[in-house]
Amino acid sequence: SLTAGVVAVQGDVSEHAAAIESAAAAHDKSVDVREIRESGIVPECDLLAIPGGESTTISRLLAREGIDREVQAHVADGKPLLATCAGLIVTSSDANDERVDTLDLLDVSVQRNAFGRQKDSFEADLDVSGLDDPFHAVFIRAPVIDDVGDAEVLATWDGRPVAVRDGPVLGTSFHPELTGDSRIHDLAFFE
Ligand code: GLN
Repeated sequence: SLTAGVVAVQGDVSEHAAAIESAAAAHDKSVDVREIRESGIVPECDLLAIPGGESTTISRLLAREGIDREVQAHVADGKPLLATCAGLIVTSSDANDERVDTLDLLDVSVQRNAFGRQKDSFEADLDVSGLDDPFHAVFIRAPVIDDVGDAEVLATWDGRPVAVRDGPVLGTSFHPELTGDSRIHDLAFFE
């Protein structure tokens, strides 16, 4: 059985857990999902998710608890990480905000809340490379990815990257856990 970790500072922890379980079941795998609020759990995990929320808060907790180093070691071992919305901001190489200590695991730079300037949230059907049918994406005060270094762009909206992959790390500006469709989790962890 696999062990999955979901950073549980805030955000849709149970929704991510459900999506991970559903993606695992589709591959006939069982998975034990652990919530991460302190150090010592990440090293036991085969796969990790960092949900949305407030990136300044998530960043602060990861640093305070020493979870940041563990997540970096996880990715250095080649183990998969799905980072969504605020998770993407925290995982990026540059959040353009001094209150966020980025983990530098996904070679993109982002602008916080930049999709939310006109409208706080919106939904869109996206063509995602690796998926046969469009993915219904929910954006909530979402970050704009404004510079892509070594990462591969998997999906764009309005000409901007909104899903990217950099080795074992998959990042999305949107919330893939909210629609009962676990295909992004499947791409991140099992493909
Ligand atoms: N606005 C949040 C931030 O900048 C991200 C929003 C989200 O995760 N839904 O941290």
